[in-house]
Amino acid sequence: MLRLYDTRTRQVETIEPARRGRLSVYSCGPTVYRPAHVGNLRSYLLADLIRRTAGRHRLLVTSCQNITDVGHLADDTEIDPGGEDKVLAQARAEGKSALEIARYYEEAFHTDCAALNIHPADSYPRASECIGMMIDLIARLIEKGHAYAVPSGSVYFDVRSFPSYGELSGNRLADLRPGHRSQGEIDPDKRFHADWALWKAAPASRELTYDSLWGSGFPGWHTECSAMSLHYLGETIDVHTGGIDLRFPHHEDERAQSNSVTGHEVVQHWVHGEHLLFEGRKMAKSTGNVVLLADLPARGLDPLALRFAFLDHRYRQQLNLTWAVLEAADRTLRRWRERVAEWARSPSQAMCAQYVSDFNAALDDDLDTPAALRVLRSLEKDSEIPAGSKFETFAHVDQMLGLDLARHIGREPAPRPLPDRAVELLEARAAARAAADWATSDRLRDQLGTLGVTVTDPPDGQTWTVRAS
Ligand code: AMP
Ligand code: ZN
Repeated sequence: MLRLYDTRTRQVETIEPARRGRLSVYSCGPTVYRPAHVGNLRSYLLADLIRRTAGRHRLLVTSCQNITDVGHLADDTEIDPGGEDKVLAQARAEGKSALEIARYYEEAFHTDCAALNIHPADSYPRASECIGMMIDLIARLIEKGHAYAVPSGSVYFDVRSFPSYGELSGNRLADLRPGHRSQGEIDPDKRFHADWALWKAAPASRELTYDSLWGSGFPGWHTECSAMSLHYLGETIDVHTGGIDLRFPHHEDERAQSNSVTGHEVVQHWVHGEHLLFEGRKMAKSTGNVVLLADLPARGLDPLALRFAFLDHRYRQQLNLTWAVLEAADRTLRRWRERVAEWARSPSQAMCAQYVSDFNAALDDDLDTPAALRVLRSLEKDSEIPAGSKFETFAHVDQMLGLDLARHIGREPAPRPLPDRAVELLEARAAARAAADWATSDRLRDQLGTLGVTVTDPPDGQTWTVRAS
């Protein structure tokens, strides 16, 4: 069975779904105010790998990924006054409406995921279309004594009503200093410095503002994920994924809300992907090192070279991506596709059971994708295994890898370039044959053979093929 590192229990856990034969997976999705950078995509790939691996265990996966088109404030640890909504800020910068911006970048997100062979989730609820369920969640939290409305029209979560706060991130309440949540003014009606806004009062004239029981306003970002995950996946969610930066406060607060409203542990396993660095630094706009998926084809690289590079590093380790890493990934990917096409020309033979079981064991072991790729590198080189069997094995494991390894099957193989010196030898051989000097012609043929060039002599002159090295 699949085992994953659980951030809350701080150990690798066997994933036993709450409902037999089914697995529910919730993934924090994009805030749609800019294109996803490749770091974001690494986090989305994590959910895809979990879904594919679970599928191999014959689990029926139900997955949900939210689209945040409202409520994510510019300082994303912050949902107090003073913060600005990311989507609204971008809309102003581009002279468009908030929803125009949100829909545009949502579409771009789906396009990127498709190019990276990330299987679509079953649902992509948009926060702006789930306001009713968020209001309902907040009302229930107030009713149960976990939240309170203040005269300004905002509603806060009462963190002291949830004793296990901090279990996920290790940030215990006693250690949190006042001000960790706020750079701006603090609502004087807030009862405790670490309480956060579930609903934020705002004038109705502001874009992305909604009516509620407490007046006009908008939901906090953490409120969204609790409401949508509970609504779409139910009160027990097997796996919840996201990037490591979301562990606190986003997931800590989401856990407090969801557990308080249901009265039990909602998320069984929290799984976080480590960050992506680019050329040694955290990928961020301010660092100036943002790389988009579209930058790969612009450099002649296959977008799936990014997927390959991600798979070659375990999700739980920081990955320092560089163009050299991507170029190497692109070369291996292309070589494998060519090999698979070559092997496909041989008669099919049963998969190599040992390699398949080593590959599966690596994935089950907390998604050890680098180990899984090492298994395939050994299989590629194993001269004992017939081509037809290599073909079947690579085609099978690609269901988990998603690298389109069968893409070149049936295509004319690309002519391989002649090795150095071969052109010269071929010219000399043509001259020898014209002069009926068969001994020299044969010697040159043998010499070409040692360079990997096979020469044949149909009636209209010599032709050659270059063998794979
Ligand atoms: P955002 O659109 O900023 O809400 O982020 C979307 C997802 O990308 C979240 O799961 C983040 O944790 C994740 N993320 C952000 N930056 C990085 C990074 N440099 N490497 C990996 N994941 C990231
Ligand atoms: Zn979330």
